[in-house]
Amino acid sequence: MIAIIGGGAIGLAIGWRLASADLAVTVFDRGRAGSAASEAAAGMLAPVSEAEPEEDALIQLALAGHAMWPAFAVELTARTGTLIDYWQCGGLHVALDRDEVERLRFLQDFLARLQLEARWLGGTEARSLSPHLSPNVKAALVSPTDHQVDNRKLMAALRTAFVTDGGWLQEHTEVTALDLAGGKVTGVIAGGRRYAAELVILAAGAWSGANEALPAQYRPPVRPVKGQMLSVRMSSSLTELILWRNGRYLVPRRDGRLLIGATVEERGFDDRLTAGGLFQLLEEARALLPDIDELPIEERWSGFRPASRDDAPILGPSPLPGLIYATGHYRHGILLTPITAAGIAEYVLHGTVPPALQPFSAARFAARGSMERVA
Ligand SMILES: Cc1cc2nc3c(=O)[nH]c(=O)nc-3n(C[C@H](O)[C@H](O)[C@H](O)COP(=O)(O)OP(=O)(O)OC[C@H]3O[C@@H](n4cnc5c(N)ncnc54)[C@H](O)[C@@H]3O)c2cc1C
Repeated sequence: MIAIIGGGAIGLAIGWRLASADLAVTVFDRGRAGSAASEAAAGMLAPVSEAEPEEDALIQLALAGHAMWPAFAVELTARTGTLIDYWQCGGLHVALDRDEVERLRFLQDFLARLQLEARWLGGTEARSLSPHLSPNVKAALVSPTDHQVDNRKLMAALRTAFVTDGGWLQEHTEVTALDLAGGKVTGVIAGGRRYAAELVILAAGAWSGANEALPAQYRPPVRPVKGQMLSVRMSSSLTELILWRNGRYLVPRRDGRLLIGATVEERGFDDRLTAGGLFQLLEEARALLPDIDELPIEERWSGFRPASRDDAPILGPSPLPGLIYATGHYRHGILLTPITAAGIAEYVLHGTVPPALQPFSAARFAARGSMERVA
């Protein structure tokens, strides 16, 4: 049996790939599968809009993962009958003052270096493309690669796909320890019971780094980065594009919601919503789309992004034989779900880490002397 710790997008998608290859797989989640970061996310599939220019390997992974999404969405919907609202909506980076125009030029150059299409618009053109934008808009950059999925529907579909293909989902069952014998993993202790397993995959999201189930030296360097978000209900569409400004975003959903996100906070596992956090989000949203003023707030929530020391995922074998890492996806876990699942399944089935995943081995931390005993 293969045991997966964590039933978020990463754990369930890997589980689905392995179950559909006829392996016996159990996904353990200590709560309801999907209820952590994977349902808290905005569901953007935006490989470059949040990228930093120095993150070259990560951008390549993100672009490769992005390219897998159309087929992944079709396959998942065909298997489950669940619509996940995969939408190639596009995005628009908006500048409201001169400084922001300069920053937009920088982004335009960066995208040009990656040979990605990004169309520059003056203020009037931007408003004719997206008429509810603030009259203060000075310039905008169209980012056609920004797509989205309704990540709550995605989680429902992944759960169905996993279970339909023979996976065993054990919710409300915490993995509290690994069973070790002869220097390798032989099982897990979960919900007070022992389960034999020849492989264990750590997909515990933001809880991967502090996971007491693992001996301390095998805990990967992953910490929680809190994000607060909220949504309003639109009576008619205020935007068909994802709107970006100053690292904040507005994501229109097919069902009439407008998601407004997200704060980026180092607060450990403090999940409280704060007046300051929500105020910043609303202020940003109103500066972009003044018409949100009268819209009812529908929901507000927070979640924990699983961030590694270099903000890139940790994928592949760990130094402990039988333990595999699939964690640390930070801001891109939904985007990277298909490529992570395919790559980890390839490693389990054929023993090779595909080239796209190789730069994300845990060994990179050992090379910097920051994680002991990682081979
Ligand atoms: C506000 C916000 C906005 C985001 N927006 C986007 C976006 O637009 N696009 C994008 O690609 N990404 C986005 N992300 C990031 C994305 O949500 C994450 O990278 C992704 O969901 C991580 O998935 P995961 O399966 O690793 O973790 P999670 O979904 O957090 O799942 C981990 C699971 O492990 C379980 N678990 C932990 N420890 C144990 C244990 N010992 N035993 C059993 N179960 C355990 C937990 O209960 C949890 O359900 C966003 C994140 C946040 C917070």
